[in-house]
Amino acid sequence: MTRLLKVSGPDDRTILEAAAILVAGGLVAFPTETVYGLGADGLNPEAVARIYSAKGRPATNPVILHVADVAGAQALVSEWPETARLLAERYWPGPLTLVLPASEAVPSIVRAGGPTVALRCPAHPVALALIRAVGRPLAAPSANRSQHLSPSLALHVVSSLGQAVDLVLDGGATEAGLESTILDLSGARPRILRPGPITPAELARTIGDLETWEGVVEAGQRQDAPGMAERHYSPQARLELVDRGKGLSATSGTVAYVGFGTLPALPIGVRGVLLPLDAEVVGTRLYALLHELDDAGFARIVMERPPEGEAWLAVRDRLQRASAKERV
Ligand code: AMP
Ligand code: MG
Repeated sequence: MTRLLKVSGPDDRTILEAAAILVAGGLVAFPTETVYGLGADGLNPEAVARIYSAKGRPATNPVILHVADVAGAQALVSEWPETARLLAERYWPGPLTLVLPASEAVPSIVRAGGPTVALRCPAHPVALALIRAVGRPLAAPSANRSQHLSPSLALHVVSSLGQAVDLVLDGGATEAGLESTILDLSGARPRILRPGPITPAELARTIGDLETWEGVVEAGQRQDAPGMAERHYSPQARLELVDRGKGLSATSGTVAYVGFGTLPALPIGVRGVLLPLDAEVVGTRLYALLHELDDAGFARIVMERPPEGEAWLAVRDRLQRASAKERV
């Protein structure tokens, strides 16, 4: 059985127990404000290697290091540009990951062999307390098997990773739902590598010039930044993105139809799920909803394409990838 301990807050003694496991090179799943992370000592290459094998994650996909403050980040980079200073001041702790030239302290496996490191300071009291208790940065990708749906509950971690994790800290449901926005500050111009809860317009207000996202948002497009695999974040059910009211003709098996704003007339037997026309709300609920539909045993989830517009960028991106066909 995987050990699962409830954690009530940053002063809970379970955090010290978790920190001891991490210091010894073990794996601990813990809540962040986005999704549950699978944590390991980010400066211990063997511990980070255990993350890759637990997740079945390809070695070409680097991991994000989680720090408790700006000083923790500065120790891991060879440059801390003005843009990083401004963004960290404005958005940390929070769902923004910064990619910067790595210092020699960062093991190669964390960087997937590249010259840069991705850094984030999570806005969750338990995550911050755990990083501080360990006294080192924590590598912590989402606590699920590679390509699968990210966990918004401790139970999702247990069902996805099972024995591979030494301890799961159960801090209840996570809040923001979608993974952090990733911004690359290592090149000539800041560039978004993954859209997320913080939008390009918000980032532009802080740093001005910025290269916006051109990733897998339209069907058939391919993104080749490291780790931006086409199929990702997928539920067990077959997820299809459709134009409003379409895709319901061949209804074999149990089908859920997810609409935005209002629902069209649905065939008998199709379960309707209504989401509001509010990108932020949908972002926070998306993974929990897909998990619920999976757990309820739906074989197909037919979902309306979300609206156009920048506010919906991260939701469109995750749905596009969650619905991408398996590549063989
Ligand atoms: P996650 O699996 O949610 O922890 O996200 C990790 C993602 O961050 C990876 O899939 C990469 O796309 C991105 N990432 C991590 N480190 C780097 C890096 N050094 N350069 C570019 N992207 C990175
Ligand atoms: Mg992930």
